[in-house]
Amino acid sequence: MASLYVVATPIGNLGDVSERALAALRDSSVIFAEDTRVTGKLTAHFGIRVSVRRYNEHAPDAAFRETRERLKRGENVALVSDSGTPGISDPGVKLVAFVAREAPNAKIVPIPGPSAAVAALSVSGMPANEFTFLGFPPAKRKRKAFFARVAVADARPVVIYEAPHRIAKTLGELAEAVGEDVPVFVARELTKMYEEHLRGTLGEVKKLLAEREKARGEFVIVVA
Ligand code: SAM
Repeated sequence: MASLYVVATPIGNLGDVSERALAALRDSSVIFAEDTRVTGKLTAHFGIRVSVRRYNEHAPDAAFRETRERLKRGENVALVSDSGTPGISDPGVKLVAFVAREAPNAKIVPIPGPSAAVAALSVSGMPANEFTFLGFPPAKRKRKAFFARVAVADARPVVIYEAPHRIAKTLGELAEAVGEDVPVFVARELTKMYEEHLRGTLGEVKKLLAEREKARGEFVIVVA
């Protein structure tokens, strides 16, 4: 039976790719990727000669139809995101839902691996028997409502993704919502050369980042 492989890829360090991930990519007739440039580097590095095509939330119906046709012909298709696990705060979920609905005979196979949220939690030092994952705060509207959800989260810690140009603003609004004294862990550039862990109260970490000329890199915020 043909498979849609949902393949987790490294969040920065190519050494984190799994043997199963490489085997699934090699075993596919096409790789649908959020960013063909990023995935192209991965496939080139590992000598994988499978065509990498763009898939994102604005993907034309053609990508969906092509996936369905290939699966029906018995070919395997791989889905990867920019980095980490497809579907976790990225558009992969739409293709998975489409295949579940439109190609019910195909197998949907998870190839687990890195995810920034879990990597950050694992080094946060905060108990994560339970946690709340909120993904990205909205860019403009409804931000207050988003941060209010952090204040009332009953399963803690709370994990949030953020882009570098908004990290300072987001920490400020978080502090307003839950208080400057709440402990926070901010992970920057996990698994990469300039990986950094910032620990302290929201007030302290906010100040630390505000003192920098410009925040760079990718961030995960874990609020205790
Ligand atoms: N699907 C991915 C996953 O499983 O982690 C997440 C994709 S989401 C579009 C990208 C966000 O994940 C970034 O803005 C950042 O918040 C976080 N992220 C990804 N890689 C990271 C890294 N190496 N270090 C810290 N955060 C990272």
